[in-house]
Amino acid sequence: MTVTQIDVLIVGAGPVGLFAAANFLKLDYSVRIVDIEFEPNHWGRGDWVHGRTLEILEQFGFAQDLLASGAKPTKVINYKHGVQKAYIPFVPDSESTYHKYVCCVGQHITESILQNFIAQNDVNVERPVTVSSFEIQDEASNSHPVIATLQNMSTGESEIVQCKYLLGCDGAHSDIRKKLEFAFQGETTELHSGVLDAKIKTNFPTTKEICDSGCVSLTPRENGLTRIFVHFQPDQRDPYNRNKIQLEEILKEAKRAFLPFRIEFLGVLWWTVYVVGQRVVEHMQHSSNHIFLCGDSCHSHSPTLGQGLNTGLGDVFNLVWKIHMAEQKLAPRSILDTYEQERRPVAQEVINIDKEVAELAQSGVPRNHPNTDTEKDFLHAISKHQLFNTGFGISYPVNILNDEGTSKAVTDAPTIVLSGHRAPDSKMIRIADGKKVRLFDAWSDKDAVCRFKVAVFAGDLAVNAETVEAFYKHLEFPESFLHKYTANDEQSRLLFVVLAVTTSNQTSVVAHPSYAAITSYPLFVDKLNNAQCHQVYGVDVHKGTIVVVRPDGYIAYATDLLNFLSIDDYFERVLLPRSL
Ligand SMILES: Cc1cc2nc3c(=O)[nH]c(=O)nc-3n(C[C@H](O)[C@H](O)[C@H](O)COP(=O)(O)OP(=O)(O)OC[C@H]3O[C@@H](n4cnc5c(N)ncnc54)[C@H](O)[C@@H]3O)c2cc1C
Repeated sequence: MTVTQIDVLIVGAGPVGLFAAANFLKLDYSVRIVDIEFEPNHWGRGDWVHGRTLEILEQFGFAQDLLASGAKPTKVINYKHGVQKAYIPFVPDSESTYHKYVCCVGQHITESILQNFIAQNDVNVERPVTVSSFEIQDEASNSHPVIATLQNMSTGESEIVQCKYLLGCDGAHSDIRKKLEFAFQGETTELHSGVLDAKIKTNFPTTKEICDSGCVSLTPRENGLTRIFVHFQPDQRDPYNRNKIQLEEILKEAKRAFLPFRIEFLGVLWWTVYVVGQRVVEHMQHSSNHIFLCGDSCHSHSPTLGQGLNTGLGDVFNLVWKIHMAEQKLAPRSILDTYEQERRPVAQEVINIDKEVAELAQSGVPRNHPNTDTEKDFLHAISKHQLFNTGFGISYPVNILNDEGTSKAVTDAPTIVLSGHRAPDSKMIRIADGKKVRLFDAWSDKDAVCRFKVAVFAGDLAVNAETVEAFYKHLEFPESFLHKYTANDEQSRLLFVVLAVTTSNQTSVVAHPSYAAITSYPLFVDKLNNAQCHQVYGVDVHKGTIVVVRPDGYIAYATDLLNFLSIDDYFERVLLPRSL
């Protein structure tokens, strides 16, 4: 039997497996990705891509095409008997992001963008192929400790693949999960919903936003398509079972819900009926830290709030940079323990919210909230969980990456954004060319997707220029974090980016006596919208702050500017010195 070696073997080429492949390829790992099906799925499934996911995808250059294709509703509007009753913005105004909408686009488009990228990197999904068995050997004596047997379902041929990492991205019925004997805890409910993608003709006035009317919702999509969900109510459920609900009933219910407006179906591209179930996996990784589960193989729930694909991509984005750090010996292997520590509570919260909201969508009453007034509270429930659902409010606990000292809100804290929380985005002006740029663009580089970002919020340079200068001087020393963990400048550039933002105006910055010193790293002026960047980070402009952001965009550590030496201490706790 043929035996080959590879860095990463990915099982399952849904969006999560494809995104994992793309992440690893960006970091120059060798990758194989297999899928048991002959063909990718071209229809239906996930279409809400939330703002935080767009922020993640844009770091790889994948968001632009999605945004160009998809509809971008900004609100959820509730209608009753043809009258608009209430609405909520999809993303709260207070959130500092450039994606204040949800991008509604067919899952096959998301998958094809990822698939094209991996194909450009000479990787194609191997079909119809699965992993029939695997074992883990001692990592001390084996550089590729996972030994997997691949089986081609068409030819019956087998092949042994030795890999460093095996990722189970094989969906809700994951065979990898079953082989690991990890329980998939939860239940299947009796809630039934129909869903379809159609071309419609309607005199309904609101076709650009997401609208719900009792148990039916409309989502605008790419190319003038509409996604319609029909949640069958409890009293309608009795005569039905999943197999009995037919397309005609879904169409009838959709037409009835939006009366007196008319909906005419010009063509139905795809439809299905699903039964709501909610399950979360017992463990997301094998104790060897060489086998991981991501996506629906870890968490499965209803599509009511469009969470599955988004959460799965979030899993991958959380995991891959950690594998890279461990593999390059930049960080101890214990960094990998933080994957399950951080992502399983997220999966559990997705399930908890889904239990509440899926029942409300059905206009049933959640078992644990019997006094709920359903329709009104469906919007209320969406609004209550909005920050989490859009991804912006997902946060991680204190651990080796997320500093304890900056994890609690205290007076005089260097920033109001706590460690373990998403770093907010903001717009600033680049001194070098006077152009407006986003903070996220300023610290991102598509060819260096695994960098810690060290952002100096310098506040007023009339007060703080000397300290910024002293910090930059310190960075020249080999014992500073900038040089201690890497062998040369290029390696350092791939691991760190340092930049500064000031509230001083452009003219005074350029005229400043130590201009050359304070521009030795990229410098930005924060004068737009009353120094919005300093505001969203809650920085005292007289003191200044340095914020360390993890490669996946979460706050790791923050300190007052004067205390800049403590940044070295933070990295001392997280990274491995070069000699080890
Ligand atoms: C109607 C509907 C609407 C939805 N709407 C949204 C939404 O708006 N937003 C959102 O975020 N999510 C939504 N979802 C959920 C989303 O579709 C899933 O969460 C997403 O597809 C999960 O991706 P995945 O890659 O983990 O798994 P999957 O997409 O299930 O992919 C798993 C892949 O693994 C392959 N596979 C399975 N077993 C094996 C094996 N043994 N060996 C090899 N390969 C195997 C499968 O063929 C498949 O290609 C929706 C789902 C449905 C059904």
